[in-house]
Amino acid sequence: MRVLITGGAGFIGSHLADAYIERGDEVYIIDDLSTGSIENIKHLKAHPRFHYTIDSVHNAPIVAELVDQCDVVFHLAAAVGVRLIVESPVRTIETNVHGTEVVLAQANKKKKKVLIASTSEVYGLSADVPFREDGCLVLGATTKGRWSYACSKAIDEFLALAYWREKRLPTIIVRLFNTVGPRQTGQYGMVIPTFVKQALAGRPITVYGDGRQSRCFCHVSDVVGALMRLMEHPQAVGEVFNIGSNEEVTILELAERVRKLTGSPSEIVFVPYDEAYEQGFEDMPRRVPDISKINALVGFRPTKSLDEILQTVIDFYAGRTTAHGD
Ligand code: UDP
Repeated sequence: MRVLITGGAGFIGSHLADAYIERGDEVYIIDDLSTGSIENIKHLKAHPRFHYTIDSVHNAPIVAELVDQCDVVFHLAAAVGVRLIVESPVRTIETNVHGTEVVLAQANKKKKKVLIASTSEVYGLSADVPFREDGCLVLGATTKGRWSYACSKAIDEFLALAYWREKRLPTIIVRLFNTVGPRQTGQYGMVIPTFVKQALAGRPITVYGDGRQSRCFCHVSDVVGALMRLMEHPQAVGEVFNIGSNEEVTILELAERVRKLTGSPSEIVFVPYDEAYEQGFEDMPRRVPDISKINALVGFRPTKSLDEILQTVIDFYAGRTTAHGD
């Protein structure tokens, strides 16, 4: 198979590229390196079945050319990370809305199947936990810039489903819950790389708010497996799927586990939200996926526990594994 991955030099995209290369497929990526990095694909650059283009998905003629060369498209290029979203809201909205428009329009010309990466953020402030794909989205106020990400991704979902219903372009939507593993950077706010780096350096571990907010973390290798299975399942078309783990942990417990696993002397400090982010921030108190839909269709179940996941990130940041190994 010939696979196009937008955002292929990003954290999840580069792991997906690795998996297809390993399987023997032909991989094309496009990435503008805004949040992705060459380091993530360094080991693939010389591979004869790996082709990379450093450009933006806003560049329609380039996207058209790449779509033409491939059989399927994974659209993972997006502005991600709460810190980036809050600090660069214009870029977030433009990348997530316009970039997806370009990819869908070009894929439609050749009727190439597209999988769109959406996010658990779209559930917003919904209290209907665990979140089901057919549940309502409860987006926060427009004065809180954070929600621009959820809203832009919700538009992507509507657009992708509209292409399927109106133009019979086969599209699949995945809502990715917190995904972690080697190569993820803490630069844009992600909590696990942030805590691990703080613990390894013996710096204070910064828990925002009271630490009672919770998340479920899934290892990138499990997420990549789910993406590949969905892409190849004919009944996934026109559907929305949660992908994530349902092992819930509070952020305070997470900080304690990181401290224990690293054997770090770091103290855990509580940082009020208004000190953590200048403006436009509001936290999601709980985020747990219902994964019965994807489990029923492709048998998805996360295989790595939270401690195993944390260990892979600790090994990565402690320099015990390379950027290319898990
Ligand atoms: N968080 C934290 N300290 C940090 C970074 C994040 O306590 O240094 C918290 C954040 O407020 C949220 C959770 O960790 O409750 C997950 O944050 P992240 O930005 O990783 O992802 P989110 O799930 O919010 O998109």
